[in-house]
Amino acid sequence: MQFEIRNHLLFAGGKQAPYRATPNRSGFMNPDTIIDHDTASNPLDPSGDIGWLTMPVARASAHVVIDWNGGITQLAPFNVQCWHAGPSKYGNRYNFNGFSIGIEHDNPGYLRKISEGVYSGVCIIDTNKNPQFKVARVATPEHGDHYWLAYSEKQIAASAALHAALKAAYPEINTVLGHFHICPGRKTDTNPLFPLSQMQSIVRGEAGELAAPIEVKPAPKLSPAAAKPAFAPDATVVADSLNLRGGPGIQFAVKGMIPYGTRVDVQEADKLSGWLRIITPFGATGYVHGGFVRLD
Ligand SMILES: [Zn+2]
Repeated sequence: MQFEIRNHLLFAGGKQAPYRATPNRSGFMNPDTIIDHDTASNPLDPSGDIGWLTMPVARASAHVVIDWNGGITQLAPFNVQCWHAGPSKYGNRYNFNGFSIGIEHDNPGYLRKISEGVYSGVCIIDTNKNPQFKVARVATPEHGDHYWLAYSEKQIAASAALHAALKAAYPEINTVLGHFHICPGRKTDTNPLFPLSQMQSIVRGEAGELAAPIEVKPAPKLSPAAAKPAFAPDATVVADSLNLRGGPGIQFAVKGMIPYGTRVDVQEADKLSGWLRIITPFGATGYVHGGFVRLD
C-alpha cells in the first residue's frame, strides 16, 4: 500500500482516502506522537463505530479508523485535535489530544470464553463460524488476564503503512503509544496482540523497507500560537450552582462552583456515565455531570 499525507490521506495516484468528517474536533496542532486504539466494537460491523465517532453526542473521535479488511477511513485532518485520548498522562506529558494522532483499529477488546471457540465481549466472536478470527489468552500487568482477538494481517499492514506515511509527513513524530500507556487503569487498548513495537520501530526509521515506497508531501508547520487550542464554548450550565469536580464522579473533590447560565467548553464526554470534562471561561478545567449542562 502506498499513500502520501497532506493533512488528508492520499493513496498512490492522488486519490483521497474515504473521508467522513467528524464534528468532534478542536484547534490546530503539530503532532509528535501517535496513539493506537481499538474501537471496542464488532469487527464485522465497521460502519457502527464510524457512525458513533462522527455524531456530536459522542464527544469522541479519532483521525482514522482502520477496519478489519485494512480499509482506512479518515475523520479529521491530521493537523487538528481529535478527542481520542481523554484525560491522559505518560512520563511528564499530559492531555495527549493536544499533540497526538489517534488511530482506531476495529477490534472488540477483551473477551470471555463461553464455549469451545466461542467468545463474548462487546459482541460474540465465533471462531468456528469465522475461521479468520484468531483468539489468544494473554495476561499483562496493563491489560489483565483475558482472551483477545488478533488483528487481521490486512489491518496490521494498513496500520504499518499509515504509521510510516505519518512519520514521513510529520518528521517530529517520534513516539507511538497504546491508549493503555497514557490512561493506565482506565483503558486496555490496543490489546496485547497489537504489534506496538513494530509501529515504534517504523517511526524511529528502523523498518526501512516499509518506509521506502511511501511518497510524501510534508504538511505546513503551524506557529505555536496557531497550535494553541482556543476556548470555544459549546454548552450552557442549567443548574443554579454546579459543582466542578476533579474527576468524573461525585467521589471526586469539588474544585469550584459554576453559576447558572455560564457558557462552558465541553472537551470530552463519557457516554456510559454521562460525565463531561469542561473548560470554564476562567480557564479552570474539571468535570460536571451532563444532566446539568445543555449542549448547543
Ligand atoms: Zn482508545
